[in-house]
Amino acid sequence: MEIARGVHLVPGTASGNVCLVTEPDIVLFDTGLPGDGPAILKHLAHLGVAPGELRSICLTHGHAGHAGSAAWLRRQSAARILASAPEADRAADPRACGALRTLWHLLLRTTRRPVEACMVDRILQAGDEMAGFIAVETPGHTDGHLAYFRASDGVLIAGDAVRVAGRDLLAPPFWDTASEVTARISLAKLADLPIRLLIPGHGPPYRAPGAALRQAGGPPGFMLETMRRRAQHQARRRR
Ligand SMILES: [Zn+2]
Repeated sequence: MEIARGVHLVPGTASGNVCLVTEPDIVLFDTGLPGDGPAILKHLAHLGVAPGELRSICLTHGHAGHAGSAAWLRRQSAARILASAPEADRAADPRACGALRTLWHLLLRTTRRPVEACMVDRILQAGDEMAGFIAVETPGHTDGHLAYFRASDGVLIAGDAVRVAGRDLLAPPFWDTASEVTARISLAKLADLPIRLLIPGHGPPYRAPGAALRQAGGPPGFMLETMRRRAQHQARRRR
């Protein structure tokens, strides 16, 4: 289903949203769970894209619901895998995770979707551009999480930086988030972007998310404000 110019939501995946961008280049954003690869290649074929034409797969983060079919697709297509440095480490060694994720991986194995390590070919930095989308650092859910924003028409591929719950947008759940405060700062940062269509990692796309994102990033309490100032100060020092 084409949900924005050249942006297709791949049907038939088990859980996470997979976006195929077909112009100006063919780039896949996230890969769903282990076992979702064939459904993705089927949709590529439906759009007239041969596996050899898929050259880049960008990951929002290394969790199994997003990087799960990356290794399989890397073998079946011409794709090279792109992710931030921390998420490249996570994808390369999915066993290095907490008890909750270990349980989740065991469960996936029982459903014949064993989690497979994936090598990342290129490390992405904030500001890198792929098919018109710019990588935006959105740490919190994981420490190297990236979202991808296309400024020309305000499309955001948000990964797990945000959850859709009806008309509400929510921060990722605390029990599955590396830093809740950092996650909320990332949401406040996203709320400053002119987003017209937000594509979350799970669930339906969300139009005009500005106010809901601001709500999800708030309330701007003392701690959040302190953390935001500290992050700005550190960013200035890095420049
Ligand atoms: Zn995740």
